[in-house]
Amino acid sequence: MEKIVNIIGAGLSGCEAAYQLAKRNIKVKLYEKKTIERNPVQKLDYFAELVCSNTLRSTDFKNAVGTLKDEMRLFDSLIIKAAEFAQIPAGGSLAVDRDVFSKYITDKMHENKNIEVIEQEFKEIDPNQITLIASGPLTSEDLQTEIAKLIGQDYFYFFDAVAPIITKDSINMEIAFRKNRYEKGETQDYINCPMNREEYELFYNELVNAQLAPVHLESEKNLKYFEGCMPVEVMAKRGFDTLTYGPLKPAGLRNLDGTNNFAVVQLRQDNAADDLYNFVGFQTNLTWPEQKRVFRLIPGLENAEFVRYGVMHQNNFINSPTVLNEFNQLKTNNNIFFAGQITGVEGYVESTSSGIIAAINIARMLEGKELQKFPKDTVMGGLQNYIISTDSKNFQPMKANWSIVENLEIKSKIRKEEKKELYSKRSINSMNEFIKKL
Ligand SMILES: Cc1cc2nc3c(=O)[nH]c(=O)nc-3n(C[C@H](O)[C@H](O)[C@H](O)COP(=O)(O)OP(=O)(O)OC[C@H]3O[C@@H](n4cnc5c(N)ncnc54)[C@H](O)[C@@H]3O)c2cc1C
Repeated sequence: MEKIVNIIGAGLSGCEAAYQLAKRNIKVKLYEKKTIERNPVQKLDYFAELVCSNTLRSTDFKNAVGTLKDEMRLFDSLIIKAAEFAQIPAGGSLAVDRDVFSKYITDKMHENKNIEVIEQEFKEIDPNQITLIASGPLTSEDLQTEIAKLIGQDYFYFFDAVAPIITKDSINMEIAFRKNRYEKGETQDYINCPMNREEYELFYNELVNAQLAPVHLESEKNLKYFEGCMPVEVMAKRGFDTLTYGPLKPAGLRNLDGTNNFAVVQLRQDNAADDLYNFVGFQTNLTWPEQKRVFRLIPGLENAEFVRYGVMHQNNFINSPTVLNEFNQLKTNNNIFFAGQITGVEGYVESTSSGIIAAINIARMLEGKELQKFPKDTVMGGLQNYIISTDSKNFQPMKANWSIVENLEIKSKIRKEEKKELYSKRSINSMNEFIKKL
């Protein structure tokens, strides 16, 4: 069989996968439509465009996304090389000049003799051809219909409206307290962040003036979809007190010493392991940096670590727990693979890493080798495991964070930072061992 793979989308995951396959001497047809028609957030003709922030986030290896980048370096990731080439100073983050970054990747795609770039919209999936779908969160409409046909309408999502999610251990429990409203129920499940009037005023003023994400819910179709879940900032703009009669209502949530609050933000458990919490009633369209800045003003959340920011926009993703296996391959058709945000990982780095997983397994399939599951004690393997084994009914995209990486039993009490260091070291060792086996 001639080794040709169709890749749909020259975004972050598609370009990374094309590079990984071409390196293994496999021919790639890389389809990209943006030079014919851009989506509402694309501004450049170059591939692998960073549509919003220009950072690939933390370089600190103690942070899961820092370690994820280190794991990707072990696979000679093109996107990480491009980021290092285009790097600009940004403290502890890997920020890039977005034009230099995307041009570097585009040139690599055009120069590679194993990659044929086809600038057109890909509309029909041939189930008999090996195809990697990496068309991203803003997949074109015809392809959306085609994917829904392929996997079943119920397993393909078109929009996303979620509140941010943070790690439990980043909540300051010296300020926040556990209680259900009016203490209903046997256990106290909610974590509450109390505000006095001054604190609320500060939060309120920053919220109503915060910067919004570029994609608004302008189409009628979207507005209708979202009418039931108004963004917290839109609600706030209706008046100073609106939130205190809505999601920040203090009634039934007195402090443990019996004193009253002016407003209370509630956090609800988000996963079975009980290490992630979401903000109750906080659907939001603020940019990601603004969410971090404004929501950290809430007392008790000054060091909140976000594993997922709130979003309200078109976000095409599939129900991976139902349709994908551990190799990013469709359960019902071995020829079809998925990579990137469309699989339910979230973020530039995460999307790219899933392109590596798909490419390595496609290459192995073409070489007649056994497909390989990435180790669950690495960030790449942990993310992969998350997207295929989470409860399919509540499946939501996820960023890199330590809570999705296989638990590391530590008997003695150690500092949080030391624990993260141990997780990171274990990930890199495990990935090195895995690569030796490949
Ligand atoms: C508005 C918005 C803002 C975001 N901001 C951030 C952020 O700041 N930081 C962050 O880490 N993550 C962000 N993300 C999430 C995510 O990390 C990025 O979307 C990331 O680019 C996803 O990578 P990908 O490879 O899955 O898809 P993309 O990089 O989007 O690549 C998909 C490519 O497929 C092409 N395509 C689509 N349909 C077709 C077709 N039918 N035929 C041919 N080509 C097609 C598209 O033109 C695109 O180039 C954001 C997402 C959105 C929607």
